[in-house]
Amino acid sequence: MTDCIFCKIANGEIKTEFVYQDDAVVAFRDLNPQAPHHILCIPRQHVATTNDFQPEQAALIGKLVLAAARIAKQLGVAEDGYRTVMNCNRGAGQTVFHVHLHLLAGRQMHWPPG
Ligand code: AMP
Repeated sequence: MTDCIFCKIANGEIKTEFVYQDDAVVAFRDLNPQAPHHILCIPRQHVATTNDFQPEQAALIGKLVLAAARIAKQLGVAEDGYRTVMNCNRGAGQTVFHVHLHLLAGRQMHWPPG
C-alpha cells in the first residue's frame, strides 16, 4: 500500500529502529507508549484489519504472536507478564489500518481494559 505508514516503516522508507525482524514480521517501539514497554509487531505484508486476514494467513498471525513472546523474553518481562492487543476498526480504537499486535509491559495491567 503506497500510503500506509506501517508499510513505509516495514519497507524501510521511514527509518525506524526494529527491536525484532524476520521474513514476515517487524517490530518497533510505539511513538506514544502506553506502558514502559510498548512494542508494535506488524506483518511486512499489508493487511488492513484482523477482519481481512485470510485462512491462508493463519501462519502469519501465529508469527506475530511468536514475535511478541520472543520480544517479551528479550525485554525480561515474559515471566512477570505482558499484554497483547489487536484493535479492530474504529470502535475498538484502531487508528492505523495495517494490522499490528501491541505488546505492553512493565506496569500492572488492569481489567477490563478501557
Ligand atoms: P491503534 O490505535 O491500535 O491503531 O494503534 C496504532 C498505534 O500506532 C498507536 O499506539 C500509535 O501511537 C502508533 N503509531 C502511529 N504512528 C507511529 C509511528 N510512526 N511509529 C511508531 N508508532 C506509531
